Amino acid sequence: MPETLPNAPYHRMRHGQLTIEGWSRAGVQSYWRIPELKIGFDLGVAAWDFLHTSTIFITHAHLDHLAALPVFLARRAMMKLPKPTIVVPAEVRDDIRAMLDCWQRLDKGPQECTLTGMAPGDTFNLNDKQFVTAFATEHTVPSRGYVVWERRRKLKPQFAKFGPVGFQMAKNSGVELTSEVTIPLLCHTGDTSAAGWDSEPAVFASQILMTEMSFAREEHSRDRIRAFGHTHLDDFVEQAERFQNELIIAAHLTTRDEPGQFREWAKARLPAGLFERLRIWD
Ligand SMILES: [Zn+2]
Ligand SMILES: [Zn+2]
Repeated sequence: MPETLPNAPYHRMRHGQLTIEGWSRAGVQSYWRIPELKIGFDLGVAAWDFLHTSTIFITHAHLDHLAALPVFLARRAMMKLPKPTIVVPAEVRDDIRAMLDCWQRLDKGPQECTLTGMAPGDTFNLNDKQFVTAFATEHTVPSRGYVVWERRRKLKPQFAKFGPVGFQMAKNSGVELTSEVTIPLLCHTGDTSAAGWDSEPAVFASQILMTEMSFAREEHSRDRIRAFGHTHLDDFVEQAERFQNELIIAAHLTTRDEPGQFREWAKARLPAGLFERLRIWD
């Protein structure tokens, strides 16, 4: 098949074992994928380059995050790709199915997918090692954040000082040397006010945090921003100490200000230790 032309801009960034690709602007469009995990977040646009990603987690049904779902499904069907899995907030699952059925009648093409609703606390298995949990965020419509976890075996602390002989003896006697731990690899909040960060400790503990910073201008009213379910740079300033993440991606910038200004304001107001880990996703 001939290579498709790119139809949507996106940035790429590598961190540890994962690559983050995507683009996001408030009220315009958001779409992301993590190729190593074979998952994506949101479908504000169906980027042709992302069409082979077969599991997409939708944070909420605002048009800048969901409008391209019918296009994505139609394009995949046209390319004879297997039907994808689309995960959505449980509250809006039936409305999204009805919307797809409507498009099917209008377009006369299939709108096939496995449509799965997730409520806060639900788990979705990606493979033997990795799974996703959903949590409640604070927005103006039903909204979900998602955490990707990895199961790993870790040596129990009481065996930390054992040498090879000790290990072998313990193993022979049937003692379990390791226990399972779950590591939060990545957290994707989607649109939320900072209050939504509080419903999931992994927001602050995940290795990679992808969240929104829709506004940064000092004179923007934070009460209004909060009421609209969005986050301001000042929320990051106020809660700076809580972020344990290795990398924080701040996306969904308003188009009213230049991304360069976001960077300047963030640099001026955030503690250096946090600014160094923050990437303004322009
Ligand atoms: Zn949005
Ligand atoms: Zn929204």
